[in-house]
Amino acid sequence: MKVLDAIRSVAGQSAALHEPTFGRNESRYLQDCLRSTFVSTVGPYVEQFEGELAAFTGSAHVVAVGNGTAALQVALRLAGVGPGDEVVVPTLTFVATANAVSYLGAVPHFVDSEKRTLGIDPVALRDHLNSIAESHRGGLVNCSTGRTIRAVVPMHTFGHPVAIDEVLAVAEDFGLVVVEDAAESLGSSDNGRHTGTAGLAGVLSFNGNKIITTGGGGAILTSDAEFASKARHLITTAKVRHPWDYLHDEVGYNYRLPNLNAALGCAQIEQLPELLASKRRLFAAYTQAFSSIEGVRVVAEPSGCRSNYWLQTLLLDETSADKRNAILEATNAAGVMTRPAWTPLHRLDPYAECPRASLSVAESLQRRIINIPSSAGLA
Ligand SMILES: *Cc1c(COP(=O)(O)O)cnc(C)c1O
Repeated sequence: MKVLDAIRSVAGQSAALHEPTFGRNESRYLQDCLRSTFVSTVGPYVEQFEGELAAFTGSAHVVAVGNGTAALQVALRLAGVGPGDEVVVPTLTFVATANAVSYLGAVPHFVDSEKRTLGIDPVALRDHLNSIAESHRGGLVNCSTGRTIRAVVPMHTFGHPVAIDEVLAVAEDFGLVVVEDAAESLGSSDNGRHTGTAGLAGVLSFNGNKIITTGGGGAILTSDAEFASKARHLITTAKVRHPWDYLHDEVGYNYRLPNLNAALGCAQIEQLPELLASKRRLFAAYTQAFSSIEGVRVVAEPSGCRSNYWLQTLLLDETSADKRNAILEATNAAGVMTRPAWTPLHRLDPYAECPRASLSVAESLQRRIINIPSSAGLA
């Protein structure tokens, strides 16, 4: 099959979807944690990792968190999302985006994506909100559910930046808070501004399959010092500073990132510039390999943006969409790992009853997307 041959010409005979790249310092810093006994929630690597993330992303404040989902939950809670609220999320995203909303007793409200970015379509979002919602003193109310729509969570799909300025403009017009799910897009930027730094807050993930990994981990980015200090408090069991006593002023979480994981992160972020360069080379190689194959193209970064090319993505033409499953079957059977995009969240059992806009573009994209081997080590 032509697609299998094209992937193999770049990635070799067999390949995983995404493997981490480890250098020499990963084990050095981990050994250092063991030697020092600081393996858990106290230790110097957490602060160092936060500082390096702040420098890299340009975010004024960074709070390391145990994983990206927890980071999103805490960021949304501090953004004012609570029980009975609705939060606008793309249907074409990883389930964690909606789960973080649900953990707060709020309800995801699914919106469509656009072809250009694979992320939230700001024009469709505006039309949808105009047709279903009304502004009241307490906020934007969904007329059919009676619930308040509090926030919108743009997600940067496979690392490609969403049209963030346009989403921010819609959010501003409707009084919505913006929390970016930048879990996949460390290293991606829009006009020089790093993803996750445009709204009130943004979150990153350092899960094992992301561009850099801490084993498990995440972070909250924000330009608001008070937001950051509240986040730190909430993820530290809401413990009040005291020389010896256990005092907690609300129901907090145990969501901190252990020093051991942060140590891994410190070594990984040293490699980030090289990983990003590899991923661009891989994109160029795949683009070349697929240039003469009909009915399919490799998804490129939106104009004006720089993508981290976390997961390389094939997009089949409408007329070739029916070949997707055969391609997935053949490549996986041959040891070349490929995956479809996520099942759109409104089609999952736990989210089937949630409010939604027309989702035809996301449905169409989902039928035509195939992620192909993307490890930085391949290029
Ligand atoms: C990975 C990911 C998350 C969650 O991150 P974890 O660290 O695995 O909890 C959230 N949203 C998106 C879009 C992701 O890809």
